[in-house]
Amino acid sequence: MAELITALIHHPYQPPSGFVAPQPGVFKASTVFFPNVAAMRQFDWKDKSAYTYGLHGTPTTYTLEERLCTLEGGAQCLLVPSGLAAIATVCLALLRNGDEVLIPDNAYGPSKALAEGELAHWGITHRYFDPMDPADLAAKLSPQTRLVWLEAAGSVTLEFPDLCEQVRLCRAAKVLCALDNTWGAGLAFRPFDLQPGQLPALAVDISIHALTKYPSGGGDVLMGSVITTDQGLHMRLKLCHMRLGLGVAANDAESVLRALPSLSLRYRQHDESTRALAHGCQQRDEFAQVLHPALPQSPGHAQWQALCGDAFGAAAGLFSVIFKPDYSQAQVDAFCDALQLFKIGYSWGGPMSLVMPYQLETMRSKWPAHLARGTLVRFSIGLESAADLQNDLLQALQQVA
Ligand SMILES: *Cc1c(COP(=O)(O)O)cnc(C)c1O
Repeated sequence: MAELITALIHHPYQPPSGFVAPQPGVFKASTVFFPNVAAMRQFDWKDKSAYTYGLHGTPTTYTLEERLCTLEGGAQCLLVPSGLAAIATVCLALLRNGDEVLIPDNAYGPSKALAEGELAHWGITHRYFDPMDPADLAAKLSPQTRLVWLEAAGSVTLEFPDLCEQVRLCRAAKVLCALDNTWGAGLAFRPFDLQPGQLPALAVDISIHALTKYPSGGGDVLMGSVITTDQGLHMRLKLCHMRLGLGVAANDAESVLRALPSLSLRYRQHDESTRALAHGCQQRDEFAQVLHPALPQSPGHAQWQALCGDAFGAAAGLFSVIFKPDYSQAQVDAFCDALQLFKIGYSWGGPMSLVMPYQLETMRSKWPAHLARGTLVRFSIGLESAADLQNDLLQALQQVA
């Protein structure tokens, strides 16, 4: 008879199998047991029909990976601890000394910082291209180019590029293209089937997604995914992912699994409120420009319409305004501070609306010709009543008038 402490650790009870409930179970593990040494020697960590170590997958992470493949129309998925880690994994797996990566000038800021920091230190060069001019991308593709990043809509300024043309250029140059699909979230368009009905499908090679945003939906989880349709490419990424020791915690995976069923409902609601507020801002004279791809005056509106459907296509929950130049930075800061429902904070995709002023001149290689001069403020619209948010914007504008 084992002593109590041993009996508690090596307990023989097995719950009956066949438990079925709305949510999948949460399996937490570093160690995973093998039935015997022969099985341990035979199991391959790359083979998802079995388990070898918590970092290489559990039922919880495998389940989330499959659901995310369904969301984005991909075949293989890697989970990483943040959206930025997804960008870094792709760069580290595919680029080596002497290679060049092309990045749109309106890319997610930390992605540019990675190129200017670690990638540059390791002898990997980068060039920024004009996301609104396919000829500029075409001119910058060179024999050294190994990877092109794409993003639709662009970060902060929300210009919508001609994504199909950009992908065609990469295809023609036989260069891999990776899309940051956080804005589209798998709902606004299909990254692996950009022109539905057309064969062969026009597809990006890799779609990364900051699950931190809409899939989490709570502003309380950091996670990213790297989705592909080509097994060979997936394995190149997966080997690097394993060697870097990247993985996600089971409780975080469970949070995303729990939020996924409401993803499209939330996305639609964010979208609807955002359009109402962006339209409202367009009527005001404080602003030189309102940036939202569904507004006809917004840069890339026609490309958005072509890719995301008709006027009722999806457009996420972000818009930006550029204050007329007679508003000083201090007045714009005071406007942000005067908002009550909008909180000042980074990120988006949660239930609370957020506001953030940006200094665009520090973020772009040159001021884009299609943007008015002035201080930019970005709004992330949450799930509050659009009328309440509208009133909040109006009272804050009155305070700085
Ligand atoms: C937020 C964001 C990321 C990074 O996600 P984190 O999980 O915060 O690292 C990457 N790309 C875009 C477009 C984002 O908005």
